[in-house]
Amino acid sequence: MELIVLGCSGSGAGPDSPASGYLVRAGGTSLVLDLGNGTFGALQRHVDPFELGAVVLSHLHPDHCADVSGLIVHRRYHPDGPGRAVPLHGPSESEVRLAVAYAPSSDERVATDLSDVFVYRPFVGGPAAIGPVALSSAPVDHPCEAYGVRLEHEGRSLVYSGDTGPCQSLVDLARGADVLLCEATWSDSPDRPRGVHLSGRQAGQTASDADVGRLLLTHVPPWADGAELLEEARKVYAGPVELVVPDGRYRI
Ligand SMILES: [Zn+2]
Ligand SMILES: [Zn+2]
Repeated sequence: MELIVLGCSGSGAGPDSPASGYLVRAGGTSLVLDLGNGTFGALQRHVDPFELGAVVLSHLHPDHCADVSGLIVHRRYHPDGPGRAVPLHGPSESEVRLAVAYAPSSDERVATDLSDVFVYRPFVGGPAAIGPVALSSAPVDHPCEAYGVRLEHEGRSLVYSGDTGPCQSLVDLARGADVLLCEATWSDSPDRPRGVHLSGRQAGQTASDADVGRLLLTHVPPWADGAELLEEARKVYAGPVELVVPDGRYRI
């Protein structure tokens, strides 16, 4: 498997990166994992949007799904389109959320039907296959319906935290994974709200508890110090750990 970072700026786009979005390639299949602000432009540097085998959304905050509207326009109106409807794996309200984001008026929202673009596959339906890639998920601890995602192909595994506070379900999902792509949004402090995001230390602790092979930190907001979060993670996780960068490529 190969992971390509489209954007890794936490909570919104920053001066150096789009918001959250990742392209995963395995066995001839390409899928996009979150598509936050600014990532659709980056996506086109790496893959033809008509070649996507699936869209996977961890949750429906704008920094993880705002550019789905751009993908809809592209697939509908590009001269090469329209392509066949692509599976969209996500929270149960994805269909309504993406229609509201796409349609600019109440009248249009009533009439908006995206079934020509997406076939909705809610995570609550259980594990799924995206070509040769096995997809499983687990609910995580965020203020909305949100999931961690595990992708497996030919014995290799990538787990993505999405947005979450510390939770056992993420540890269980990530158990033994080759790579954990994990959010680290703020520095460690007892004053942080519970169940929203992870500190660098908590991301490192999750990687350690799940005994993953490698930790990739992401979702650092423009106002946070990534080096500080990296140092926090290193103190509690003995394996290799680094901050991802836009357009970074990682072999799983
Ligand atoms: Zn986020
Ligand atoms: Zn979020």
